[in-house]
Amino acid sequence: MLDCLFCRIVNGELRAAVVAEDEWAMAFRDINPQAPTHILVIPKKHIGSLDEAAEEDTARLGRLLLLAKRVARDEGLASGYRVVLNNGAAAGQSVFHIHAHVLGGRRLGWPPG
Ligand code: 5GP
Ligand code: ZN
Repeated sequence: MLDCLFCRIVNGELRAAVVAEDEWAMAFRDINPQAPTHILVIPKKHIGSLDEAAEEDTARLGRLLLLAKRVARDEGLASGYRVVLNNGAAAGQSVFHIHAHVLGGRRLGWPPG
């Protein structure tokens, strides 16, 4: 999508601190980290949100989670980490290209705010 921030990162139009990538997904550091490790994992194909995900995205979403696991391991988050999908503005979604936040490196409270 032309005017999507994360599609522009996938295309290489915008720079990001990429930490991992495969055929399906890409992981890069959040520009405004909320924990010592805060990485975003996105599918290379544009999907606006979880609400917009379809049956045909099943494998893509699975790959996204597996890349999140790989990133967490590579970042040394063996003691625990959180994977968050904000869906919709009221839940805090601000970029409408689906992304999983991988957060770790500090004690994470529950429930989240
Ligand atoms: P959301 O609020 O949609 O769940 O998460 C969007 C995330 O994208 C936020 O944590 C925000 O800091 C991050 N973000 C916004 N713009 C950029 C950017 O240009 N580069 C990177 N690396 N992260 C961004
Ligand atoms: Zn996009």
